[in-house]
Amino acid sequence: MQELLSKLVKKNIVITKEGKVADYIPELDKAKKDALGICILDNDGNIYTAGDWETKFTIQSISKIVTLMLAILDNGEEYVFSKVGMEPSGDPFNSIRKLETSSRKKPYNPMINAGAIAVASMIKGKDAREKFNRVLDFFKKVTEDDSLDVNYKIYCGESETGNKNRAMGYFLKNDGIIEGNVEDALEVYFKQCSIEVNAYTLAKLGLFLANNGRTSSGEQIITQKIATIVKTLMVTCGMYDLSGEIAVRVGIPCKSGVGGGIVGVVPGKLGIGVYGPSLDKKGNSIGGIHILEDLSKELKLSIF
Ligand code: GLU
Repeated sequence: MQELLSKLVKKNIVITKEGKVADYIPELDKAKKDALGICILDNDGNIYTAGDWETKFTIQSISKIVTLMLAILDNGEEYVFSKVGMEPSGDPFNSIRKLETSSRKKPYNPMINAGAIAVASMIKGKDAREKFNRVLDFFKKVTEDDSLDVNYKIYCGESETGNKNRAMGYFLKNDGIIEGNVEDALEVYFKQCSIEVNAYTLAKLGLFLANNGRTSSGEQIITQKIATIVKTLMVTCGMYDLSGEIAVRVGIPCKSGVGGGIVGVVPGKLGIGVYGPSLDKKGNSIGGIHILEDLSKELKLSIF
């Protein structure tokens, strides 16, 4: 396995030239375009790594699965999905247009920004600080990593430039999807996106879901039902508007973020974390997708 990963990283570094590092949030553009790394964890405690697996980057959209788990724990499935749908939108992650044009007012799913901001508003806590700390503590528990924290430079950049996200927040408030304070929801959302991780952290998150919500030390933190919901939404909506194609090409639940991370879940078996900040047009790590595709073919990982 170790050898295979080194081979796949080497092979796919070439393709990183074809993508572009995200630059719409200040600081993200500092990432090294040809960085590429992977970490895989299994249930026997093995850890396989290659390339830039230790490099820190911000989790961005991958955080949407973390807050979704906590929001369902806090409010129950019925409430959460009364406010956010379960359907792929077919639009870019930051699109606002369907909020107005579709007859159903709720955002299409929790993986697009509008849905994730609505989900962030459901996290319990007296103010934004307490709500976000609960998200961070939950993420620490899931990954068994107490060192996780926010990259405050990126957070400030997110918050200062996040006008479209802000517009979506107020739109959602207007339509009754957000019931609480909009600015609190946005602060939680910008902060959750700015949590710093590496490919190992993502592999821990992936293994947690692969084991239906159980940590490596055996603590059941979410129900199997919640884990199933999250994994299913990762397949249908996790890779922006390329999710269908990724389901065909890779065939495992995945979620990507514009920081260059992808988390992959091989149910019952593996947690996979990938890092490669060079992105395709949809916002997915271009090298990351190719590594996952090769890996899936090589190890026959597709769940279909
Ligand atoms: N913070 C980012 C945004 O809302 C997350 C984007 C992403 O990773 O898809 O624009």
